[in-house]
Amino acid sequence: MITIDGSQGEGGGQIVRSSLALSLVTGTPVTIENVRAGRKKPGLLRQHLTAVHAATEISGAKVDGAELGSQRFVFEPGTVKAGEYRFSVGSAGSTTLVCQTVLPALMLVKGTSNIEVLGGTHNPFAPPFDYLTKVYFPLLRKMGPIVESGECRPGFYPAGGGSFRIRVIGSPNLKPFELLQRGKLVRREVRALVANLPKHIGERECKLIARKTDWDAKSFIIAEVKGSPGPGNVVMIELEFEHVTELFIAFGEVGKKAERVANEVLQAARKYLESDVPVGPYLADQLLLPLGLAAHQGQPGAYRTGPLTEHTRTHIDVLKRFLDIEIDVEEDGDMRTIRLWKR
Ligand code: ATP
Repeated sequence: MITIDGSQGEGGGQIVRSSLALSLVTGTPVTIENVRAGRKKPGLLRQHLTAVHAATEISGAKVDGAELGSQRFVFEPGTVKAGEYRFSVGSAGSTTLVCQTVLPALMLVKGTSNIEVLGGTHNPFAPPFDYLTKVYFPLLRKMGPIVESGECRPGFYPAGGGSFRIRVIGSPNLKPFELLQRGKLVRREVRALVANLPKHIGERECKLIARKTDWDAKSFIIAEVKGSPGPGNVVMIELEFEHVTELFIAFGEVGKKAERVANEVLQAARKYLESDVPVGPYLADQLLLPLGLAAHQGQPGAYRTGPLTEHTRTHIDVLKRFLDIEIDVEEDGDMRTIRLWKR
Protein backbone atom coordinates (compact mmCIF):
# COMPACT_ATOMS: atom_id res chain seq x y z
CA MET A 1 0.00 0.00 0.00
CA ILE A 2 1.35 3.40 -1.01
CA THR A 3 0.15 6.52 0.81
CA ILE A 4 0.03 9.68 -1.26
CA ASP A 5 -0.22 13.11 0.30
CA GLY A 6 -2.64 15.02 -1.94
CA SER A 7 -1.49 18.34 -0.51
CA GLN A 8 2.04 18.05 -1.93
CA GLY A 9 3.21 20.54 -4.57
CA GLU A 10 0.33 21.55 -6.81
CA GLY A 11 -2.12 19.95 -4.38
CA GLY A 12 -4.81 19.47 -7.07
CA GLY A 13 -6.77 16.84 -8.94
CA GLN A 14 -3.86 15.63 -11.02
CA ILE A 15 -2.28 13.91 -7.98
CA VAL A 16 -5.51 11.95 -7.53
CA ARG A 17 -5.89 10.98 -11.19
CA SER A 18 -2.24 10.01 -11.65
CA SER A 19 -2.20 8.00 -8.44
CA LEU A 20 -5.24 6.08 -9.67
CA ALA A 21 -3.69 5.53 -13.09
CA LEU A 22 -0.43 4.33 -11.55
CA SER A 23 -2.20 2.14 -9.02
CA LEU A 24 -4.13 0.48 -11.88
CA VAL A 25 -1.02 -0.16 -13.95
CA THR A 26 1.19 -1.43 -11.14
CA GLY A 27 -1.57 -3.24 -9.21
CA THR A 28 -0.51 -1.37 -6.07
CA PRO A 29 -3.23 -0.28 -3.61
CA VAL A 30 -3.12 3.39 -2.70
CA THR A 31 -4.42 5.61 0.08
CA ILE A 32 -4.77 9.25 -0.91
CA GLU A 33 -4.87 11.71 1.97
CA ASN A 34 -5.46 15.48 1.97
CA VAL A 35 -7.20 15.21 -1.40
CA ARG A 36 -6.89 18.50 -3.35
CA ALA A 37 -5.84 20.30 -0.16
CA GLY A 38 -4.25 23.03 -2.26
CA ARG A 39 -7.62 24.08 -3.74
CA LYS A 40 -10.27 26.46 -2.40
CA LYS A 41 -12.85 23.66 -2.38
CA PRO A 42 -10.77 20.64 -1.29
CA GLY A 43 -11.79 17.00 -1.57
CA LEU A 44 -13.20 15.02 -4.48
CA LEU A 45 -15.37 17.02 -6.88
CA ARG A 46 -17.66 15.29 -9.35
CA GLN A 47 -14.95 15.06 -12.03
CA HIS A 48 -12.51 13.40 -9.62
CA LEU A 49 -15.16 11.08 -8.22
CA THR A 50 -16.07 10.03 -11.77
CA ALA A 51 -12.38 9.27 -12.32
CA VAL A 52 -12.42 7.05 -9.19
CA HIS A 53 -15.56 5.29 -10.46
CA ALA A 54 -14.04 4.84 -13.91
CA ALA A 55 -10.84 3.37 -12.44
CA THR A 56 -13.01 1.07 -10.30
CA GLU A 57 -15.09 -0.09 -13.24
CA ILE A 58 -12.23 -1.02 -15.56
CA SER A 59 -10.48 -3.05 -12.86
CA GLY A 60 -13.14 -4.26 -10.42
CA ALA A 61 -11.35 -2.32 -7.68
CA LYS A 62 -12.34 -2.09 -4.01
CA VAL A 63 -12.78 1.49 -2.86
CA ASP A 64 -13.31 2.86 0.61
CA GLY A 65 -14.27 6.42 1.51
CA ALA A 66 -14.66 7.94 -1.96
CA GLU A 67 -17.65 10.31 -1.96
CA LEU A 68 -18.25 13.86 -3.07
CA GLY A 69 -16.05 16.03 -0.87
CA SER A 70 -13.93 13.13 0.48
CA GLN A 71 -10.47 14.20 1.56
CA ARG A 72 -9.21 10.66 2.08
CA PHE A 73 -9.94 7.37 0.35
CA VAL A 74 -8.42 3.96 -0.28
CA PHE A 75 -8.24 2.36 -3.73
CA GLU A 76 -7.35 -1.32 -4.21
CA PRO A 77 -7.22 -2.15 -7.92
CA GLY A 78 -8.28 -5.49 -9.37
CA THR A 79 -7.45 -6.78 -12.85
CA VAL A 80 -7.77 -4.23 -15.65
CA LYS A 81 -9.97 -5.44 -18.51
CA ALA A 82 -10.43 -4.01 -22.00
CA GLY A 83 -14.11 -3.53 -22.88
CA GLU A 84 -17.00 -1.19 -23.59
CA TYR A 85 -17.16 1.64 -21.10
CA ARG A 86 -19.35 4.70 -20.58
CA PHE A 87 -18.50 7.24 -17.90
CA SER A 88 -20.72 10.20 -17.14
CA VAL A 89 -19.35 13.14 -15.15
CA GLY A 90 -22.94 14.26 -14.58
CA SER A 91 -22.00 17.95 -14.72
CA ALA A 92 -19.78 20.11 -16.87
CA GLY A 93 -16.75 18.47 -15.22
CA SER A 94 -13.90 17.59 -17.54
CA THR A 95 -14.37 14.42 -19.61
CA THR A 96 -10.81 14.51 -20.91
CA LEU A 97 -9.32 14.31 -17.43
CA VAL A 98 -11.51 11.30 -16.60
CA CYS A 99 -10.35 9.73 -19.85
CA GLN A 100 -6.69 10.33 -18.98
CA THR A 101 -7.16 8.45 -15.71
CA VAL A 102 -8.11 5.14 -17.32
CA LEU A 103 -6.19 5.49 -20.57
CA PRO A 104 -2.73 4.42 -19.31
CA ALA A 105 -4.09 1.15 -17.92
CA LEU A 106 -6.27 0.39 -20.96
CA MET A 107 -3.47 1.10 -23.40
CA LEU A 108 -1.27 -1.47 -21.66
CA VAL A 109 -3.80 -4.27 -21.53
CA LYS A 110 -4.41 -6.57 -24.52
CA GLY A 111 -7.68 -6.04 -26.35
CA THR A 112 -9.88 -3.26 -27.65
CA SER A 113 -11.71 -0.76 -25.48
CA ASN A 114 -14.42 1.58 -26.67
CA ILE A 115 -14.91 4.42 -24.23
CA GLU A 116 -17.56 7.10 -24.12
CA VAL A 117 -17.30 9.98 -21.66
CA LEU A 118 -20.11 12.47 -21.01
CA GLY A 119 -19.77 15.95 -19.49
CA GLY A 120 -17.69 18.99 -20.45
CA THR A 121 -15.39 18.58 -23.44
CA HIS A 122 -13.90 22.08 -23.58
CA ASN A 123 -13.24 23.21 -19.99
CA PRO A 124 -10.92 25.82 -18.58
CA PHE A 125 -7.96 24.25 -16.72
CA ALA A 126 -8.22 20.94 -18.57
CA PRO A 127 -7.13 19.64 -21.97
CA PRO A 128 -9.87 20.24 -24.53
CA PHE A 129 -11.01 17.22 -26.56
CA ASP A 130 -9.10 18.57 -29.59
CA TYR A 131 -5.94 18.47 -27.49
CA LEU A 132 -6.31 14.74 -26.93
CA THR A 133 -6.97 14.15 -30.63
CA LYS A 134 -4.35 16.39 -32.15
CA VAL A 135 -1.58 16.52 -29.53
CA TYR A 136 -1.70 13.66 -27.04
CA PHE A 137 -2.97 10.61 -28.94
CA PRO A 138 -0.48 10.90 -31.85
CA LEU A 139 2.37 10.83 -29.32
CA LEU A 140 0.88 7.82 -27.49
CA ARG A 141 0.60 6.01 -30.84
CA LYS A 142 4.35 6.49 -31.34
CA MET A 143 4.79 4.40 -28.19
CA GLY A 144 2.83 1.41 -29.55
CA PRO A 145 -0.82 1.48 -28.47
CA ILE A 146 -3.52 2.54 -30.91
CA VAL A 147 -5.56 5.36 -29.43
CA GLU A 148 -8.07 6.99 -31.75
CA SER A 149 -10.80 9.49 -31.16
CA GLY A 150 -14.30 9.21 -32.54
CA GLU A 151 -17.20 11.57 -32.52
CA CYS A 152 -17.29 14.58 -30.15
CA ARG A 153 -20.37 16.55 -29.17
CA PRO A 154 -18.95 19.69 -27.55
CA GLY A 155 -20.14 20.55 -24.05
CA PHE A 156 -19.03 23.81 -22.44
CA TYR A 157 -18.87 25.05 -18.88
CA PRO A 158 -21.25 25.50 -17.06
CA ALA A 159 -23.98 23.57 -18.94
CA GLY A 160 -21.81 20.60 -19.97
CA GLY A 161 -23.86 18.00 -21.81
CA GLY A 162 -21.10 17.06 -24.24
CA SER A 163 -19.55 13.70 -24.99
CA PHE A 164 -16.85 11.97 -26.96
CA ARG A 165 -15.78 8.48 -27.85
CA ILE A 166 -12.37 6.96 -28.15
CA ARG A 167 -11.04 3.55 -29.12
CA VAL A 168 -7.96 2.02 -27.54
CA ILE A 169 -6.15 -1.08 -28.77
CA GLY A 170 -3.71 -1.96 -26.05
CA SER A 171 -0.07 -2.80 -26.44
CA PRO A 172 1.46 -4.28 -23.27
CA ASN A 173 5.03 -3.41 -24.33
CA LEU A 174 5.76 0.26 -24.88
CA LYS A 175 8.46 1.63 -27.17
CA PRO A 176 11.14 4.14 -26.21
CA PHE A 177 10.25 7.77 -26.91
CA GLU A 178 12.24 10.90 -27.72
CA LEU A 179 10.97 14.37 -28.56
CA LEU A 180 13.81 16.89 -28.57
CA GLN A 181 13.03 18.99 -31.68
CA ARG A 182 9.83 20.25 -33.26
CA GLY A 183 11.01 20.04 -36.86
CA LYS A 184 9.51 22.33 -39.50
CA LEU A 185 6.07 23.89 -39.26
CA VAL A 186 3.71 21.87 -41.43
CA ARG A 187 0.31 23.47 -40.83
CA ARG A 188 -1.54 25.85 -38.59
CA GLU A 189 -5.21 26.21 -37.89
CA VAL A 190 -7.27 28.70 -35.96
CA ARG A 191 -10.67 27.29 -35.02
CA ALA A 192 -13.35 29.32 -33.27
CA LEU A 193 -16.29 27.32 -31.90
CA VAL A 194 -19.54 29.11 -31.15
CA ALA A 195 -22.49 27.35 -29.51
CA ASN A 196 -25.85 29.05 -29.00
CA LEU A 197 -24.22 32.45 -29.41
CA PRO A 198 -24.00 34.82 -32.40
CA LYS A 199 -21.55 33.68 -35.09
CA HIS A 200 -19.97 37.15 -35.21
CA ILE A 201 -18.15 36.31 -31.95
CA GLY A 202 -16.10 33.71 -33.82
CA GLU A 203 -15.70 36.04 -36.79
CA ARG A 204 -14.30 38.82 -34.59
CA GLU A 205 -11.90 36.40 -32.92
CA CYS A 206 -10.55 35.14 -36.23
CA LYS A 207 -10.38 38.67 -37.62
CA LEU A 208 -8.20 39.85 -34.74
CA ILE A 209 -5.79 36.91 -35.07
CA ALA A 210 -5.65 37.37 -38.87
CA ARG A 211 -4.85 41.07 -38.41
CA LYS A 212 -2.04 40.39 -35.93
CA THR A 213 -0.42 37.59 -37.96
CA ASP A 214 0.37 36.89 -41.61
CA TRP A 215 -1.50 33.58 -41.49
CA ASP A 216 -3.44 32.94 -44.67
CA ALA A 217 -7.24 32.97 -44.80
CA LYS A 218 -7.40 29.18 -45.27
CA SER A 219 -6.04 28.67 -41.73
CA PHE A 220 -9.20 30.11 -40.14
CA ILE A 221 -12.32 28.10 -39.39
CA ILE A 222 -15.47 29.29 -37.64
CA ALA A 223 -17.71 26.42 -36.56
CA GLU A 224 -21.23 26.85 -35.23
CA VAL A 225 -21.81 23.97 -32.80
CA LYS A 226 -25.26 22.40 -32.99
CA GLY A 227 -26.92 20.44 -30.21
CA SER A 228 -24.90 21.72 -27.26
CA PRO A 229 -27.22 22.43 -24.31
CA GLY A 230 -25.60 25.70 -23.23
CA PRO A 231 -23.76 28.65 -24.68
CA GLY A 232 -20.07 28.30 -25.38
CA ASN A 233 -17.21 29.90 -27.23
CA VAL A 234 -13.59 28.84 -27.52
CA VAL A 235 -10.75 29.70 -29.86
CA MET A 236 -8.03 27.16 -30.52
CA ILE A 237 -4.73 27.59 -32.33
CA GLU A 238 -3.23 24.36 -33.58
CA LEU A 239 0.41 24.33 -34.65
CA GLU A 240 1.51 21.19 -36.43
CA PHE A 241 5.23 20.57 -36.75
CA GLU A 242 7.08 17.59 -38.22
CA HIS A 243 7.53 15.88 -34.84
CA VAL A 244 4.82 17.36 -32.63
CA THR A 245 1.55 19.26 -32.71
CA GLU A 246 0.70 21.77 -29.99
CA LEU A 247 -2.70 23.33 -29.37
CA PHE A 248 -3.65 26.40 -27.40
CA ILE A 249 -7.11 27.44 -26.29
CA ALA A 250 -8.88 30.44 -24.78
CA PHE A 251 -12.43 30.55 -23.46
CA GLY A 252 -15.17 33.08 -24.03
CA GLU A 253 -17.07 34.19 -20.93
CA VAL A 254 -19.96 36.49 -20.17
CA GLY A 255 -18.59 40.04 -20.12
CA LYS A 256 -15.28 39.07 -21.81
CA LYS A 257 -14.79 40.62 -25.22
CA ALA A 258 -14.19 38.33 -28.19
CA GLU A 259 -11.01 40.29 -28.95
CA ARG A 260 -9.65 39.53 -25.48
CA VAL A 261 -10.28 35.82 -25.97
CA ALA A 262 -8.45 35.94 -29.31
CA ASN A 263 -5.53 37.89 -27.83
CA GLU A 264 -5.18 35.38 -25.00
CA VAL A 265 -4.87 32.35 -27.26
CA LEU A 266 -2.57 34.20 -29.65
CA GLN A 267 -0.28 35.15 -26.78
CA ALA A 268 -0.05 31.51 -25.63
CA ALA A 269 0.73 30.33 -29.18
CA ARG A 270 3.34 33.06 -29.68
CA LYS A 271 5.05 32.25 -26.42
CA TYR A 272 5.37 28.65 -27.56
CA LEU A 273 6.57 29.65 -31.04
CA GLU A 274 9.24 31.92 -29.58
CA SER A 275 10.45 29.29 -27.09
CA ASP A 276 11.66 26.83 -29.75
CA VAL A 277 11.03 23.78 -27.53
CA PRO A 278 8.74 21.02 -28.87
CA VAL A 279 6.76 20.41 -25.69
CA GLY A 280 4.57 23.16 -24.25
CA PRO A 281 3.83 23.56 -20.52
CA TYR A 282 0.69 21.38 -20.41
CA LEU A 283 2.03 18.59 -22.55
CA ALA A 284 5.14 18.59 -20.33
CA ASP A 285 3.14 17.36 -17.34
CA GLN A 286 0.92 15.02 -19.38
CA LEU A 287 3.76 13.22 -21.18
CA LEU A 288 5.35 12.17 -17.91
CA LEU A 289 2.89 9.39 -17.20
CA PRO A 290 3.20 7.37 -20.46
CA LEU A 291 6.95 7.96 -20.55
CA GLY A 292 7.25 6.91 -16.92
CA LEU A 293 5.43 3.65 -17.73
CA ALA A 294 7.73 2.99 -20.68
CA ALA A 295 10.78 3.71 -18.52
CA HIS A 296 9.45 1.31 -15.87
CA GLN A 297 9.41 -1.36 -18.62
CA GLY A 298 13.03 -0.54 -19.48
CA GLN A 299 12.32 1.79 -22.43
CA PRO A 300 13.96 5.17 -21.90
CA GLY A 301 12.24 8.45 -22.75
CA ALA A 302 13.29 12.07 -23.23
CA TYR A 303 11.69 15.35 -24.20
CA ARG A 304 12.50 19.02 -24.23
CA THR A 305 10.29 21.72 -22.73
CA GLY A 306 10.50 25.13 -21.05
CA PRO A 307 10.83 25.93 -17.31
CA LEU A 308 8.88 23.36 -15.32
CA THR A 309 5.42 24.12 -13.99
CA GLU A 310 4.37 23.15 -10.48
CA HIS A 311 2.13 20.51 -12.12
CA THR A 312 5.15 18.91 -13.78
CA ARG A 313 7.28 18.98 -10.64
CA THR A 314 4.49 17.42 -8.57
CA HIS A 315 3.84 14.80 -11.22
CA ILE A 316 7.51 13.76 -11.18
CA ASP A 317 7.28 13.18 -7.42
CA VAL A 318 4.10 11.09 -7.74
CA LEU A 319 5.56 8.93 -10.54
CA LYS A 320 8.66 8.15 -8.50
CA ARG A 321 6.49 6.80 -5.68
CA PHE A 322 4.96 4.08 -7.89
CA LEU A 323 7.53 3.31 -10.55
CA ASP A 324 11.02 1.94 -10.55
CA ILE A 325 12.42 4.87 -12.52
CA GLU A 326 14.84 7.80 -12.43
CA ILE A 327 13.87 11.21 -13.81
CA ASP A 328 16.51 13.79 -14.55
CA VAL A 329 15.90 17.42 -15.52
CA GLU A 330 18.78 19.11 -17.34
CA GLU A 331 18.72 22.92 -17.49
CA ASP A 332 20.06 24.95 -20.39
CA GLY A 333 18.90 28.58 -20.27
CA ASP A 334 15.13 28.44 -20.70
CA MET A 335 15.24 24.90 -21.99
CA ARG A 336 14.72 21.80 -19.87
CA THR A 337 15.48 18.29 -21.09
CA ILE A 338 13.63 15.65 -19.11
CA ARG A 339 14.98 12.11 -19.25
CA LEU A 340 13.38 9.00 -17.78
CA TRP A 341 14.92 5.55 -17.46
CA LYS A 342 14.62 2.38 -15.41
CA ARG A 343 16.37 2.50 -12.06
P1 ATP B 1 -8.10 21.11 -9.54
O1 ATP B 1 -6.91 21.91 -9.94
O2 ATP B 1 -9.28 21.92 -9.17
O3 ATP B 1 -7.83 20.03 -8.62
P2 ATP B 1 -8.17 19.47 -11.81
O4 ATP B 1 -8.65 18.21 -11.28
O5 ATP B 1 -8.77 19.97 -13.07
O6 ATP B 1 -8.51 20.55 -10.87
P3 ATP B 1 -5.27 19.87 -12.12
O7 ATP B 1 -4.45 19.20 -11.09
O8 ATP B 1 -5.23 21.35 -12.14
O9 ATP B 1 -6.64 19.28 -11.98
O10 ATP B 1 -4.84 19.31 -13.59
C1 ATP B 1 -5.26 19.88 -14.78
C2 ATP B 1 -4.63 19.14 -15.98
O11 ATP B 1 -5.14 19.75 -17.18
C3 ATP B 1 -3.12 19.23 -16.09
O12 ATP B 1 -2.61 17.99 -16.53
C4 ATP B 1 -2.89 20.28 -17.18
O13 ATP B 1 -1.72 20.06 -17.95
C5 ATP B 1 -4.10 20.12 -18.04
N1 ATP B 1 -4.47 21.38 -18.74
C6 ATP B 1 -4.94 22.51 -18.17
N2 ATP B 1 -5.15 23.47 -19.10
C7 ATP B 1 -4.82 22.92 -20.30
C8 ATP B 1 -4.81 23.40 -21.64
N3 ATP B 1 -5.20 24.62 -21.95
N4 ATP B 1 -4.40 22.56 -22.61
C9 ATP B 1 -3.99 21.31 -22.31
N5 ATP B 1 -3.99 20.80 -21.08
C10 ATP B 1 -4.38 21.57 -20.07
